[in-house]
Amino acid sequence: MYANVIIEYPLKTLDKYFLYKIPDDLVNSLKIGMQVKVPFGKQTIKGFVLNIVANIPSVDYEIKEIIAIINPEIILNDELIQLGKFIEESTLCPLISAYQAMLPAALKLKKTTNNYHKYNTYIELNTDKNLVNDYIKNNPRSIKQLEIIKYLQNNQNVLKSTLNCSALKILINNKIVKENKEEVYRLNKDNTTLIKNKLTSEQQDVFNNIKANLNTLNTYLLYGVTGSGKTEVYFNLIDEVLKQNKTALVLIPEISLTTQIINRFYKRFNNIVAIFHSGLSIGEKHDEYLKVVREEAKIVVGTRSAIFSPLKNLGIVIIDEEHSSTYHQENIPRYNAIEVAKWRAKFHNIPLILGSATPSLESMARAQKNVYKLVTLNNRAQDVELPKCNIIDLTKEIEKNNLVLSSSLLEAIAKCLVNKEQTILLLNRRGYSTVITCSNCGFTYKCPNCDITLTYHKSSNHLRCHYCGYTTFKSEKCPECKEESLTFLGTGTEKLVTLLQQEFPTARIVRMDTDTTTKKDSYQKIIDDFAAFKYDILVGTQMISKGLDFPLVTLVGVINADSSLNIPDFRSNERTFELLTQVAGRAGRSEKKGEVIIQTFNPDNKIIDFVKNNEYLNFYKYEMAIRKTLKYPPYYFLISLKVSSKEYDIASKEANQITKILKNNLSKETIVLGPTTANIFKINNIYNFQILIKYRFDNQINKVLKEIDNMYALNKKISLSILFDPIHF
Ligand SMILES: [Zn+2]
Ligand SMILES: [Zn+2]
Repeated sequence: MYANVIIEYPLKTLDKYFLYKIPDDLVNSLKIGMQVKVPFGKQTIKGFVLNIVANIPSVDYEIKEIIAIINPEIILNDELIQLGKFIEESTLCPLISAYQAMLPAALKLKKTTNNYHKYNTYIELNTDKNLVNDYIKNNPRSIKQLEIIKYLQNNQNVLKSTLNCSALKILINNKIVKENKEEVYRLNKDNTTLIKNKLTSEQQDVFNNIKANLNTLNTYLLYGVTGSGKTEVYFNLIDEVLKQNKTALVLIPEISLTTQIINRFYKRFNNIVAIFHSGLSIGEKHDEYLKVVREEAKIVVGTRSAIFSPLKNLGIVIIDEEHSSTYHQENIPRYNAIEVAKWRAKFHNIPLILGSATPSLESMARAQKNVYKLVTLNNRAQDVELPKCNIIDLTKEIEKNNLVLSSSLLEAIAKCLVNKEQTILLLNRRGYSTVITCSNCGFTYKCPNCDITLTYHKSSNHLRCHYCGYTTFKSEKCPECKEESLTFLGTGTEKLVTLLQQEFPTARIVRMDTDTTTKKDSYQKIIDDFAAFKYDILVGTQMISKGLDFPLVTLVGVINADSSLNIPDFRSNERTFELLTQVAGRAGRSEKKGEVIIQTFNPDNKIIDFVKNNEYLNFYKYEMAIRKTLKYPPYYFLISLKVSSKEYDIASKEANQITKILKNNLSKETIVLGPTTANIFKINNIYNFQILIKYRFDNQINKVLKEIDNMYALNKKISLSILFDPIHF
């Protein structure tokens, strides 16, 4: 018997398959999808078994034998083996990288150890009482040993760690005490409070609609306003799936959201839930994965890569906040989790639910064309009203010298503090100040490696580049003209907290952004503390905008709505609408009425108006007309090619060369734009050019791109990345 093994080859852009003989002692246990150790040259390396054959044509070289199976429990099943091939073809990635992406870090090929299992060791007395008695009688024992023996005579299930000492060691060596190892999971949730809420009639209708087609392939777009209780519908659908003895896969966008939602899942479904997100330790992820492999977990809730969970007998896939850009992976393999979900739904012939209060234009367009089935929740649950939204013109505030906080917002915060209610403030820039310039000579701190200004972080007195991490200290004087005339422009979250503290000295303020949440469980702590009313005001970047549910929050303030409108990206309107609607949705989610205050320099902007009046469908129509005129998605498909090099001339020359190949080989209707310098031209001393392809139908495209990709696979001076449906530019 022989096996084809795919290995991680040093040249990462190419797949390599090798044939190995299966030694007799492994013939019965080796299965397709297992990881194995194989000899490779003088080394031993690891790979996946892709197929097994009985006979091979004769070859004139020696076929080596597989050395060992790495972990018989971990197998990429038939579904995942096929799914890897789909990802290879649709994203032009090496097959091996698709398989690697499916496994938690502890179980990937590169890991030198696979021993992430955690054990508890219990101790007990040898059941042979005579042996124990003889041991005590024949040799007078130390008091400590006698104490341990007595303790074990009276207690069961004793953890070794609670008694560990040299006397215990002697007892174990003499076989008087026996050890029992028991594998334990690092995360152990056992909630006794299982909560079920009654569905509203609107929720019931949506539920019935989908329930009637549980064993049919359909993609549903569940469009429900913020606070309409989409999760409650998910719960009831999962109940139905479990009744059929099937499993459920739920994706949520980002970690800031996971804590609250995951707790709801635990409360509702108890310990049949496995979770995956970036806040878990490598060992925790390993254990959660094992729960799925061992079929102890029936429900997986997790962020993007959880879409690869090896759940058997899948009954439903749910993607919450489907508009979120976090479902697109930017590194190889550059997959879109929604496309992977569609593939898995098709494989199992089951429904896929895409839920959102602000569906992506692509999804709504598909729903309008009946490619997706549209189901709607128009009202908030429990008769709670949507919050009232006020727009504040910042140009008028500047006249009053209110540079960051308008008088209306200040008044509203003061009122909240008096009423013992909570406030959330959104400011989508972290740090203290985003630009530091010299008012004397015009000098600006810029990153020496990248094409952008440095952000000032006051707590550490650092200037930091948010792209490459370059850090430097801020001097008191201007480095150019040596005058003390450095001024801070552009407010970040850190400065906002300082300003608020000056205005409201007794207010309890907490900040949540990537700077305050680097430590494990720090998200959880901020969210728990805010929920427990240990703080009055939560200041944060977009990570606070989605999914959070705090009943005491009655005020949401947006410090500057223009920051995302001004980003040069065709999706900036959509992102702004989504961000503002989502953050506004955090206000007034229980019986207390909510208020939203949006500050802007463009009070007449259409997008802000749609947010104010909660007009998603009007926004959709308005934006679709723009996309149609400008030939952008969803009317056209987009592919972006990024050509990067440390040498400007090489990057420029090759980008032009690639553009030429594309223009010569793609259909006439396909539009090839560029090369242009990318949005941020220089990052970490690497120059980036971008080529954009817009097309509707072009059956040549994947073939042409694959050829170009292969051309540059071995080129060390150029790196080419091809992104289908790019999310960031
Ligand atoms: Zn200066
Ligand atoms: Zn930089």
